[in-house]
Amino acid sequence: MKNLLVKEGNDLLVSRMQQTENTQFEVKGCVIGGEKTIVIAGPCAIESEDILKETAFKVRASGASMLRGGAYKPRTSPYSFQGHGEEGLKILARVGQDMNMPVVTEVMDSEDIGLVAEYSDILQVGARNMYNYSLLKKLGRLDIPVVLKRGLSATIEEWLLAAEYIMAGGNCRVVLCERGIRSSETWTRNTIDLSAVALVKELSHLPVMVDPSHGTGVRSLVTPMSKAAIAAGADVLMIEVHPNPEKALSDGPQSLTPRGFSQLMREIEPIARACGRRVK
Ligand code: PEP
Ligand code: MN
Repeated sequence: MKNLLVKEGNDLLVSRMQQTENTQFEVKGCVIGGEKTIVIAGPCAIESEDILKETAFKVRASGASMLRGGAYKPRTSPYSFQGHGEEGLKILARVGQDMNMPVVTEVMDSEDIGLVAEYSDILQVGARNMYNYSLLKKLGRLDIPVVLKRGLSATIEEWLLAAEYIMAGGNCRVVLCERGIRSSETWTRNTIDLSAVALVKELSHLPVMVDPSHGTGVRSLVTPMSKAAIAAGADVLMIEVHPNPEKALSDGPQSLTPRGFSQLMREIEPIARACGRRVK
């Protein structure tokens, strides 16, 4: 295989040639990149404290390790719900603390990094921002884990080099997230690229996350793709869950109900075990 990760004879920081063993790090007691497959669950957007609490309580009972929820939402239309901003961050931090779950949320704008980092345990760079090199550079100077989503039509090389931007600044706690790429297919929202998961595990030592919710956009495909993701080597899954998906302010069609999530957790367990891992 052509090695795309060698520049002028020096291996890049993201490369397995630089570090052979898998990167592992701990976030409030959750080890990312270790034996346990970490499952992050929660609504697309933080809508209200009650909805987030109910979701967190139920996903935690089913075995989720971390809570997600967006306060700054990158919506296709400027007229769609954009998230509750700082108020949403406060809700997320409160619920995470009450439930004893580390929290993950997206930072969309460089200006908000300090604020979002005050409330969140992990910062997420969304697919639309993967090429925002000034944002990546700023995150590289912080001491906080970053989930780097693959851009909508990014090549694997571009994705890994985006991670290099963060690592080059000294922040090595990066998780690569496959969330589906654009293709000619219209049944699904995106085409989830699971070969990228296996390939990136070969090319890089960084932990890999799969987001089958955005990766497919279709609720019924989330569990089968979660199983496939674990089989392909994913270290982390991120799943959108809403207590009432029909009423969700964003991404209802791809959100699982808490009951659907509990079923997912049951179904992925034997797959994880067959791969020498565990989910609980
Ligand atoms: C999200 O996870 O909430 C999100 C907006 O994802 P993406 O950036 O992958 O579209
Ligand atoms: Mn979403």
